[in-house]
Amino acid sequence: MKRSPLVIDKEKISKYLQIIREIGRYYKPIDVHVHPTDIIFDSYVYVQDDFNEDVLSLSGSRYSEPQVYPIYLNNREDTSIKNNSSNMFNMQLSSFKIRNAYKSIGAKVLSDQMSLSGIGQSLLLPVAPRTGGLEHQFDHLLRYYNNCAQYLLSYSFPNEIEDTQISDTLKTVTKRVVLHAVKIHPNITGIDLNSSLGVDRVEAILNAASAEQLPVIVHGGRSPILKGHPSCCYSEIKKLAKIDWKISMKSIVIAHAGGYGYTVAEFKSEVLPVLKKLLSKHSNLSVDISALHYDVLETVLANINHDRILFGSDFFYVPQWQCIALLAHALTHLIPDIEVPLVKIMSLNARRCILNEP
Ligand SMILES: [Zn+2]
Repeated sequence: MKRSPLVIDKEKISKYLQIIREIGRYYKPIDVHVHPTDIIFDSYVYVQDDFNEDVLSLSGSRYSEPQVYPIYLNNREDTSIKNNSSNMFNMQLSSFKIRNAYKSIGAKVLSDQMSLSGIGQSLLLPVAPRTGGLEHQFDHLLRYYNNCAQYLLSYSFPNEIEDTQISDTLKTVTKRVVLHAVKIHPNITGIDLNSSLGVDRVEAILNAASAEQLPVIVHGGRSPILKGHPSCCYSEIKKLAKIDWKISMKSIVIAHAGGYGYTVAEFKSEVLPVLKKLLSKHSNLSVDISALHYDVLETVLANINHDRILFGSDFFYVPQWQCIALLAHALTHLIPDIEVPLVKIMSLNARRCILNEP
């Protein structure tokens, strides 16, 4: 493997995005991991943006169209839960960054990002909070993104819905709204996969999703922002391995390739071996590459069959164009011809797994 240069400059990023636009003339690029509202604090108060319809901004913020900027590969923070920085420092840094990422929301913010990045469709993932319902996030999806072909909607079950009600709830939602997936986030929603109750709940969700012919996207890895709380690690790959994923005939996507919040050394020793076993055991499993550290991304691309990898960004937390640039850059350092894997990862795999195309 060639060593990667430490910066991806604007010129190179534009070149990568141009390749995606070329591919997009024949194969529509799909991002399977987009959060239109913040799922961590879920508490910002927005006002209508004075200058843009379809944009809501935090008071004092003004929306500006997205632009690319250089990516420094050696300048990435260590988000592993084993690093030494204090919880308070991590929390403050994260909450500042999240507030900045979500200072403007709404359909124009996402569609501008998609245009810049050459993305044709985005799968929108709400995440039920630990307590309370999903209305706040789901109403936003319905208001700004419903009935528009470039946005694919999904659903997440709040804990206030009993396991026995999950199936009926999903039937009711699908009568009202066209859904394309169900999202499960054990860390944020607080589904403890160490307990049989937690495993039962995920399996109840899988049954319901399968009956409605819906794929499932499940968070894979830790949530460093919850460091110190046990739910920080509910989605570790070894816990996901306890679920009988064959319950569903439909696709299951392990987000972040199971590697969210891991350094590359931790990923190689703690995640990759289990992930590989799971992928060989369950043919309906695949991974997305959203919000991965560059070196973890390279490891995923070098070790996992490209037919099992879907493009995801984690926008609005991470810009779509940035994840595309990292993907193209990493592929360039692994293989001479990046177009074939890019077509699969950016488009064909998502069309097969999420849109049921052959
Ligand atoms: Zn996410």
